Amino acid sequence: MPDFREEAQTLRDQLIAWRRDLHRHPELAFEERRTAGLVAEHLKSLGLDVRTGVGKTGVIGLLEGARPGKTVMLRFDMDALPVEEANEVEYASQIPGRMHACGHDGHTAIGLGVATLLARHRSVLHGRVKFVFQPAEEAIGGARAVIDDGALEDPTPDVAFGLHLWNALPLGQAIVQAGPLMAAATHFQLIVQGRGGHGARPHETRDPLVAAAHFVTAVQTVVSRNIEPSQKVVLSVGTFHAGHAFNVIPDRAELGGTIRTLDDGVLARVEQRLQEIIEGIARAFDVRTELQIRHAAPVLINDERAAAYVARAARRVLGDGAVRSMEPLMVSEDMSEFLNRVPGCYFLMGSMNPDRGLDYPHHHPRFDFDEDALPLGVAILAEATVIYLSEEVG
Ligand SMILES: [Zn+2]
Ligand SMILES: [Zn+2]
Repeated sequence: MPDFREEAQTLRDQLIAWRRDLHRHPELAFEERRTAGLVAEHLKSLGLDVRTGVGKTGVIGLLEGARPGKTVMLRFDMDALPVEEANEVEYASQIPGRMHACGHDGHTAIGLGVATLLARHRSVLHGRVKFVFQPAEEAIGGARAVIDDGALEDPTPDVAFGLHLWNALPLGQAIVQAGPLMAAATHFQLIVQGRGGHGARPHETRDPLVAAAHFVTAVQTVVSRNIEPSQKVVLSVGTFHAGHAFNVIPDRAELGGTIRTLDDGVLARVEQRLQEIIEGIARAFDVRTELQIRHAAPVLINDERAAAYVARAARRVLGDGAVRSMEPLMVSEDMSEFLNRVPGCYFLMGSMNPDRGLDYPHHHPRFDFDEDALPLGVAILAEATVIYLSEEVG
């Protein structure tokens, strides 16, 4: 077994250079053309069989080991966010209003690093490694797009691994666990249609704004009064648009929000209550309502065997005490789309370093992570892949 910890450290400068280049040139969901070009070019230079334009802007590279065996899929996401970067670093975003504020630049760099290491050890690899660089992780369905475009076929992976750099976790630590790690995300959009009019003659209107305000208040009781208290569930209204003038009652109000759950039964109950509350409000305030619900990502559940492989790899790279588990997070990740179809393990790689001011949360305009996490992520994924392929032969 090669010493991936040491080998990954020799790639450190290259990993940082890749990451900073990507950070300077962030691209939004399904627009990752420059990023995908860089990825495809590097994978081809390593001798991988490369497919581009998967799910619009995704890239898949297949590394054939010298010996027969199973197929490991490694998944990385490439998209940036519509955020204006506030960091004053030499590698800051050069594109106004676009920023790698979630760390996907780091994930892409890690993917290139793992491909580099495993390509070097092709002669000892049993089986294949399928590198999936997906577009549009940030709530727009990139995972589903690449799956619909055949990412899980020819060959179908036996296991899938992936990681997220995590700025709530100190550098040098990892969260690896079997079972649920992240919540299902369900988005809703509500239109409340009333009849507008003069702000001084409200009795001639059917005020959609007041009805919508009651909706916001009433849905707070779904979590507090309809769901068993030991269940984890979040319901948040995030948008509320109505009206243009202080003395005009508008015709309609539009609201949007998100539901996060770890259990399908709980989600069904929340959706049912939303529907009932909306119907009640429509009657009470004499308005028309229209609700749209979109299931954005399922619960992210790690397979027990796959998690054991990643945990072993992480302990070898980081040390025994540095690998732990945690209560599932209520954020979501569309890696769950892959893990719904292929057993696997997604883990969190600590990237926070408060001593260097690198502890802003993901999606913040000052988000930045400790780049020393990059070689650690490379080493863990390379190691987990090789352990799996060596032990699951035949
Ligand atoms: Zn994100
Ligand atoms: Zn992310």
